[in-house]
Amino acid sequence: MPTETFEFQVEARQLLQLMIHSVYSNKDVFLRELISNASDALDKLRLAKLRDDSLDADVSDLHIELEVDKDARTLAVRDNGIGMSYDEVGELIGTIANSGTAEFLRELKEAKDSANAEGLIGQFGVGFYSAFMVADEVTLVTRRAGEQQGTRWQSRGEGTYTLEKVDDVPQGTSVILHLKPADPDNQLHDYTSVWKLKEIVKRYSDFITWPIRLVGEKRDGDKDAEPETLNSMKALWARSRDEVSDEEYHELYKHISHDWRDPLEIIQLQAEGTFEYQALLFLPSHAPHDLFTQNFKRGVQLYVKRVFIMDDCEELLPPYLRFVKGVVDAQDLSLNVSREILQQDRHIRMMQRRLTKKVLSSVKSMMAKDPEKYATFWREFGAVLKEGLVVDPDNRDALLAVCSFATTRSGDETVTLKQYVERMPDDQKDIYYVTGESRQTIDNSPHMEAFRERGIEVLLLTDPVDEVWVDAVGEFEGKRLRSIAKGEIDLGSEDDEKKDSEREKRAEEYEGLLGWMREQLDEDIKEVRLSSRLTVSPACLVADADDLTPALESMYRAMGQ
Ligand code: ADP
Ligand code: MG
Repeated sequence: MPTETFEFQVEARQLLQLMIHSVYSNKDVFLRELISNASDALDKLRLAKLRDDSLDADVSDLHIELEVDKDARTLAVRDNGIGMSYDEVGELIGTIANSGTAEFLRELKEAKDSANAEGLIGQFGVGFYSAFMVADEVTLVTRRAGEQQGTRWQSRGEGTYTLEKVDDVPQGTSVILHLKPADPDNQLHDYTSVWKLKEIVKRYSDFITWPIRLVGEKRDGDKDAEPETLNSMKALWARSRDEVSDEEYHELYKHISHDWRDPLEIIQLQAEGTFEYQALLFLPSHAPHDLFTQNFKRGVQLYVKRVFIMDDCEELLPPYLRFVKGVVDAQDLSLNVSREILQQDRHIRMMQRRLTKKVLSSVKSMMAKDPEKYATFWREFGAVLKEGLVVDPDNRDALLAVCSFATTRSGDETVTLKQYVERMPDDQKDIYYVTGESRQTIDNSPHMEAFRERGIEVLLLTDPVDEVWVDAVGEFEGKRLRSIAKGEIDLGSEDDEKKDSEREKRAEEYEGLLGWMREQLDEDIKEVRLSSRLTVSPACLVADADDLTPALESMYRAMGQ
């Protein structure tokens, strides 16, 4: 079959241009990306073989290999993992499938100035394409485990790539970088230097659970020397916290999450006893843009006795913690464990409960120890966490302890319900809240007038889920949660009775007008009454205490109900 030439997809082309032409602060990450792909490919093969023993693949010595040729200026990164078929190479390498990468591009476009953009790029590894930061030509040769025919992909990163079917290819994938000329002034970036490669592997990929071997430099005489293994392969989750540096944790986080930023918080749990497991969880520092979409991939990685079993294991955490990333390694599950088994397993349910509590208690201590960090967490994930108030009554108290809200008195900060209640004046009986699309619509709401005038603090709730949890929760420490836009509100002032009788008198006085308004608005409203809520606005709409509020009505309408 002849060599075919293809064009890169538009986004892929943009990304390649960036890789080739910008000046990056940190090119070393290309190796992390290629090793990360190789490691994934080995995980996938081990799993495929476990599921289907008849698969024609050799899993006896799974590993990653680096090979340098100084004269030819090439660096090869090889694995004997799952490999790719001809079609897969075209699909996976010619397009941008990874949502992290798509998101990176979006942020890059939004970055206002070039300094900002430079900062973003410096932290980021864009997967396979980052090879073009250091190479002027990349060749990938691969054979899918179980298949006979191999594929060769080649590109200079400039708009097109070629694909060709080839014979006699070993199982797995080999990526050969033809390195750009070395900068004589900057030996730090010479990727044919063994010292340099060792250093990068140690820094970024030490935790990789497969051996990374250097079959390096062909020097006369020691061609047959044992290849050196560069990484320790120690599972970070099995080591104690003080043995591991934050940088090491961060690299693991980036490997499993495809996020290029450091995590906000590291959470570790070692459970002993009859059902033993270790968990290493991360709270990201940014919410991904697809967090609220149907196809958001949630869940952490599941390992059994150090063997990778699956990505996105949903059974380990409830949906309202779907942003949490990490690894859970269980000692007492079978390597053959399936989704069906996980869904029914009593131990898994216990594990979910324990992990949930651990995450919530970590957020709580973050709140006490590092309010700024908590504020970031809450800004990014508060809207998701509040779903828990509705669906997880068992953890409601723990959740309420870490939920906080903007109020009419909080300025830029947020307060917990506990703080709100503590500073309530004695004669205030209820907790007041108002919901709306934005802080601004709420601030301009006529419902607010009486509260503002009397200096009563009101919670300002602007997430769609707020409408739902306030009903589900109902009260806090014996104080009812009450919408200022629903039903009759008694603001508990001393001369209430006087006001009541005054209002009755005035209602009689205005009966003519009110009656006329009732007639005119008959189609649209239930009732017209004189109000004590308003101080400036002439009129406002009020819902019955158990009616849907306007915001909730529009949310249901948006959902097609
Ligand atoms: P990501 O790893 O985030 O998915 P990459 O650009 O690094 O994005 O890789 C794109 C895809 O190409 C991978 O998801 C994988 O399916 C495939 N791939 C890359 N490298 C390898 C490899 N060494 N072996 C098998 N498949 C690979
Ligand atoms: Mg990758």
